[in-house]
Amino acid sequence: MRIQLTTPVSALSMVGSTTADRLKKLGISTVLDLLFYYPFRYEDLSVVSPIGSLQPFSTATVKGRIELLDNRRSWRRRTILTEGLVSDPSGSVKVIWFNQPFITKVLTPGDEVYLAGKVAADQYALQLVNPIYEKIKRAGETVHTARIIPIYPLTEKLTQKQLRWLMKLALSAADQVRDWLPPEIRTTLSLLTLPQALRQVHFPDSQASADAATRRLKFNELFLFLLQSKTVKRELQSAQALPVTFAETATKQFVSSLPFTLTADQRRAAWQILCDLERPAPMNRLLEGEVGSGKTVVAAIVMLNAGLAGLQTVLMAPTEILARQHAMTLQQLLAGTPLKVALLTHSYHQLVTRTCSRAALATAIRNGSVDVVIGTHALIQQDIKFHRLALAIIDEQHRFGVEQRKLLHQKGSAPHFLSMTATPIPRSLALTLYGDLDLSVIRELPKERKRVITRLIGPAQRMDCYQFISEQIASGRQVFVVCPLIDPSDKLGVKSVTESFEKLKEQVFPNLKIAKLHGKLKPREKESVMADFVAKKSDILVTTSVIEVGVDVPNASVMLIEDAERFGLAQLHQFRGRVGRAAHQSYCFLLTGSSNQKTTARLEALVTARDGFELAELDLKFRGPGELFGLSQSGWPAFRIASLFDYDLVALAQASAEKIITADPTLQRHPELRQKLDQLNREVHLE
Ligand code: ADP
Ligand code: MG
Repeated sequence: MRIQLTTPVSALSMVGSTTADRLKKLGISTVLDLLFYYPFRYEDLSVVSPIGSLQPFSTATVKGRIELLDNRRSWRRRTILTEGLVSDPSGSVKVIWFNQPFITKVLTPGDEVYLAGKVAADQYALQLVNPIYEKIKRAGETVHTARIIPIYPLTEKLTQKQLRWLMKLALSAADQVRDWLPPEIRTTLSLLTLPQALRQVHFPDSQASADAATRRLKFNELFLFLLQSKTVKRELQSAQALPVTFAETATKQFVSSLPFTLTADQRRAAWQILCDLERPAPMNRLLEGEVGSGKTVVAAIVMLNAGLAGLQTVLMAPTEILARQHAMTLQQLLAGTPLKVALLTHSYHQLVTRTCSRAALATAIRNGSVDVVIGTHALIQQDIKFHRLALAIIDEQHRFGVEQRKLLHQKGSAPHFLSMTATPIPRSLALTLYGDLDLSVIRELPKERKRVITRLIGPAQRMDCYQFISEQIASGRQVFVVCPLIDPSDKLGVKSVTESFEKLKEQVFPNLKIAKLHGKLKPREKESVMADFVAKKSDILVTTSVIEVGVDVPNASVMLIEDAERFGLAQLHQFRGRVGRAAHQSYCFLLTGSSNQKTTARLEALVTARDGFELAELDLKFRGPGELFGLSQSGWPAFRIASLFDYDLVALAQASAEKIITADPTLQRHPELRQKLDQLNREVHLE
């Protein structure tokens, strides 16, 4: 069968309906999806050792002939052992697999194989335990051993071996992938072609070619993103927004009615926004502020002004829970004003605090009796019509509203735009990324906020840490445990949500209520796990980085981060921001098994740095270029592989996008690129 990009994975050999369903959960339905499912790290099994030179307690790859192979039942432990002997000219070694009796069907004595795994020693001899195995078919043609092998983010019951095997099949279609990047850019920046990059990202010939592939694929994402925002900017150039006049008296009154005094940064941010709003040119502003710095109240001040001018505001949050939380907060904040607040999501339709029918709410929004509409971003993609929409606010969204702006514009309005984020993007980077974007920054935290006590701890202190956690929970607090992975990985040691959850539940805290959360749960499941945690129905939440942005759980006081060295500083800082949001003292424990000085120095920065901005800068300094990308993700889910902190690439992508768009504003001379962008825009609509 000739494999096409559109071939469904279910048509590939060895993919039954169960496997197809599992792949679907990872977003993989076609060969094309497979190709763009990147590994998050590699294991280098490329050095093949002579059997005679194996050292105990190391990891090794050997190439040899199977001399003996048989299954044996160990009746006491109820396991099936597959034992064998493998030899090469330098010697022979015992091999043992546990509970994989089918291996005797796959391998037979006489076969030439590669084996890669841990070398153990019993009292008599060395042995390879549970090695990855691969029959040698043609010289140089290996997928699982004797090379740098890809490790994919997997869940469910899919195995690395299965995915690698499918990937190998899929790669035969790599040449059909059209490279939409103009060749002059590719050659100037010495980037790989797209098919080359795909081949090398999955099965790299060397670490250097893995890096080159990563570079090209990161460039793809950054370049398209930048090109997209530039085209949107162009389209919006002539747009007109509704000007909002500054209601000075009412604003002063509102501010003085707050239960706290605004910080100077909050005042300045509100002022900058209000000045923009007085003009008919649509504002495009990013409000950056540490987690807990009080961005919501700034938004409330702005909404108040729009509302008093008879204009509407829409606030979009990434999730339902976040939308609901905002609705509750803003409802309270604006209670003493004439503004009417509504909540509109898939499952909630509320006007003020009363539930009403969706249709009634839509009517109220259309005829202008609602001033502030809060909802998830799906909101603007629905058939909701506004009476006089002046302002759109986007909270905690990675792409800062490029798509949303475009969508609203296509619906015939060009409101002022405000994106709010807790991600500390340094000003220079923000300017590179969004030339037309103005920036307001809240650096200062409210005065009474206590600093989160941060400690770097090693495995020896784990028990003490658990003890501390149980005391915190006994005093009524809640705890987050963050792990780098969802499922146990091939390589021993890296903490996964699944393992930690089981261990905490069964061994460490059998009497506590423990929940787990990760990105592979369905949105509904995620929401209900989070809602339970907010409602204090669980004490500990074991999670991946999905908690990074979002829900406020003021009662949580401890953040324990496993294998902290696997995260970037900026990201760790975001995690830490999930605690310390109320009056009680909060703690962040960074657990690391690493004794590498550079690693600990990097993590120490979290103990010493003053704020997220300082950390974002330090993060760049510490992270060398060779860092594997999956681990350097900085929490922009829309980028699969790139991160905004890839400064050099961002700058290159920015310059390239600018050059193209200046020379060819409508991309007439770059039809493939035009097509790629149109396709991206369509995907946004379908989401
Ligand atoms: P974020 O910037 O992370 O969105 P929020 O707007 O949720 O932060 O504010 C966090 C908490 O701080 C809220 O409970 C809010 O009422 C409170 N807050 C905001 N501004 C101040 C201030 N100037 N002084 C004291 N508390 C404040
Ligand atoms: Mg917020």
